Amino acid sequence: MNTSAQTPAIEFKTPALWREQCFYAGQWQAGDSGERIEVVNPATDKVIARVPSLAKHELEKALTEAQQGFEYWRALTALERSARLRRWFELMQAHKEDLARIMTAEQGKPINESRGEIDYAASYIEWFAEEAKRGYGEMIPASKAGQHLLVRPEPIGVSVAITPWNFPAAMITRKAAAALAAGCSMVVKPASMTPLSALALAYLADKAGIDNGAFSVVTGDSATVGQVFTESRLVKKLSFTGSTQVGRKLMEQCAPNLQKLSLELGGNAPFIVFDDADVEMAVKGAIGSKFRNTGQTCVCPNRFLVQAGIHDKFVTALKKAMSELKLGDGFDEEVKQTSLINAGAVDKVKRHYLDALEKGAECVLGDEPGTLEHNRVAPILLTGVTPKMQLWQEETFGPVAPVLQFTTEAEGIELANATPFGLAAYFYTQNLDRSWRVGQALESGMVGVNEGGISNAMAPFGGIDQSGFGREGGRQGMQEYQQLKYLCYGPAGSDSD
Ligand code: NAP
Repeated sequence: MNTSAQTPAIEFKTPALWREQCFYAGQWQAGDSGERIEVVNPATDKVIARVPSLAKHELEKALTEAQQGFEYWRALTALERSARLRRWFELMQAHKEDLARIMTAEQGKPINESRGEIDYAASYIEWFAEEAKRGYGEMIPASKAGQHLLVRPEPIGVSVAITPWNFPAAMITRKAAAALAAGCSMVVKPASMTPLSALALAYLADKAGIDNGAFSVVTGDSATVGQVFTESRLVKKLSFTGSTQVGRKLMEQCAPNLQKLSLELGGNAPFIVFDDADVEMAVKGAIGSKFRNTGQTCVCPNRFLVQAGIHDKFVTALKKAMSELKLGDGFDEEVKQTSLINAGAVDKVKRHYLDALEKGAECVLGDEPGTLEHNRVAPILLTGVTPKMQLWQEETFGPVAPVLQFTTEAEGIELANATPFGLAAYFYTQNLDRSWRVGQALESGMVGVNEGGISNAMAPFGGIDQSGFGREGGRQGMQEYQQLKYLCYGPAGSDSD
């Protein structure tokens, strides 16, 4: 039953996708205490929904049910799990427009980007529906006569996920699809600012036959959920996407129970443009990767390093392209930049902007953040940036492109690598030898070479160092939810001849 406190002003083909209850134990749950979390549309500052803040005992129940869900789900054949995942993918496709609208309403991103995220999120389910059939083990040549040695990947058990607000659907499917493909059940706690996409996904998963506690979505106070998840002996795997600070805390909390962990954390991506780059391609890549989701992505370039010979040409072309990005409400089809997630996000951009100007940067496009309504910030281009500035050291998570000029290839690489983070890196060059050299020299989990859009379901997504560990997508994605069992068979002694 949908207990919406107010009818959303958005039209849906399937209004049932708008859920304001949690989903666990294979049922919609309103929450015992009546305590609710408000969901606010960042483009209007209006409350659009209220979801339950579950109590400890309810979260524990969700895990107990997920244990039963695991036993049920793992007993299905790989082909059956694959078929149900495939149905989930198809249902997402069939409801794409509604899902996109829910996402824009709660997260604010332009509607076309929301449609893109639904496709992207669904592609992980499609991919893992196929991978579910390929959980191959290994036969090992025996060390003694009569022995048989084999390695069997087995589902690890109940898995849990804690996800961020910037990709409310994709950050869930790339974990859940891998877990379900491996034969695990999963309980997801989405970001409190964007739970509606997650709940809509739970509705479709159930319709697809991912039922009986195999997939659940719970909402509540994050510290309480984190505590229940990590203290539970039922939980065997925690996959977290979010800030490095919270990731560290969860890792500490997982230590007593030694839960397997994947941490997809923050980044500080460099975007290098060498003298021999194609400027038009580099600007296209910069706009696509930097300004997607109004600069609120973990892989978006945070630092532009441009070689002296091409600097002015690149800056002029980037400025022109940035000035063409329309700012407004995400439901306007023409809009490319929308509200940041909340006032705190605007404050951080403002802090970085003011610090950069104070330390000598020049603003060649944009204004001081914090003056527009509904947490909007028009794209900002800064030149004369140095590594001493805050925006060079920390993720800005907003529409700011800071440009630093460098001279030699070695200097560019050194500056790019001078960060403890290592999620994504990008560079543009038309020199083949340089493309190999720099691709290998950059210290990062993922590198885009003449390419700004690097994420897809087929490739292993993930970082190194302070950006975390573990991979999502690719054939590696399912391994995060598996454990290996090695079986050593000796002769049974029953042969009669
Ligand atoms: P966040 O504050 O770390 O929150 C992420 C999730 O953790 C939310 O669900 C949040 O719940 C929960 N959380 C917060 N404190 C917790 C605690 N003490 N125990 C358990 N859970 C807790 O990060 P965010 O601001 O949502 O997301 C932005 C960050 O995510 C950026 O740093 C970005 O780079 C990173 N990110 C990384 C990737 C990647 O793949 N590497 C992808 C996307 C985003 P509440 O919402 O209820 O507070």
